[in-house]
Amino acid sequence: MARIGFVGLGNMGGPMARNLVRAGHAVAVFDIVPDLVARCAEAGAIPATAAAEAARGAELVITMLPAGQQVREAWLGQGEMAGGMAAASAPGAILVDCSTIDVATAREVAAGCGRAFLDAPVSGGVMGAEAATLTFMVGGPADAFRAAEPVLRQMGRAAIHCGGAGAGQAAKACNNMVLAATMIATAEAFVLAETLGLSHQALFEVMSKSSGQSWSLTTYCPVPGPVPASPANRDYAPGFAAALMVKDLGLAQQAAAETGAATPMGAKALELYRAFVEQGGGSTDFSGIVTMLRGRA
Ligand code: NAD
Repeated sequence: MARIGFVGLGNMGGPMARNLVRAGHAVAVFDIVPDLVARCAEAGAIPATAAAEAARGAELVITMLPAGQQVREAWLGQGEMAGGMAAASAPGAILVDCSTIDVATAREVAAGCGRAFLDAPVSGGVMGAEAATLTFMVGGPADAFRAAEPVLRQMGRAAIHCGGAGAGQAAKACNNMVLAATMIATAEAFVLAETLGLSHQALFEVMSKSSGQSWSLTTYCPVPGPVPASPANRDYAPGFAAALMVKDLGLAQQAAAETGAATPMGAKALELYRAFVEQGGGSTDFSGIVTMLRGRA
């Protein structure tokens, strides 16, 4: 059982922190929204009134925050609200950021925090956070990964060490860029099939057993019917909201611009998802982009 600090108790962080409480750890929690702290305290967590207070004396300190700016402030910032968590944590503590942020900020915090720091973004969404079935993609020192892995596995079913600082964020950006591109391609195929008089079920049967197969087809099929659990069967309630896909595609494009990598398909995917969000699809599941593609003929 470990003493853990946890900061950022939103849609993802709240259930993750509660899973650690359930696993028997002493978890000190903080969020700038007091109600979220209270919800975790009701579940047995120790409420803190500042990020640094949650981190003080902890062996493992975890953040689950919106974006790079909040992560930098929480770990490195000075002042009452703005973190200073790294300085507050014990010298031997392992720091873990599970937020999805840009690779450059992850590396900056790792270099500047003076502790063993892991970037450990997740896939699996809110359902995965609640059910403790997340996948962690982890960058940072191998010995810190080995020490943190048992705790990560109490919030998820897999933790993969991807390399040094920033490698977890790099893996997340690459994976979600592919996810967006395959979803758009799959949605386009169904729209084309509709115009050709080919049924959704027939196309699904063929593609799921052929080279057009992908997670976007077999788990998140963008039309209702073939995969009963996919968001298409509940009017595209998320799931994974399109606004979050725009965020992740933006991070991938930022990384590509910084390194000079050619990612024209990723750029096009970002353009299409931005258009979908601008048309009001931001809180719709990302598979709902099929509705926009239908209207574009
Ligand atoms: P959220 O907005 O629900 O939660 C973020 C929390 O951080 C909020 O409760 C907010 O009050 C808190 N916060 C902001 N600044 C703070 C500060 N300075 N100190 C303390 N708390 C602060 O977001 P979420 O959906 O939980 O996502 C968190 C991260 O996980 C994001 O980086 C997101 O991209 C990533 N992610 C989300 C999903 C998803 O499906 N929601 C899936 C994978 C990854």
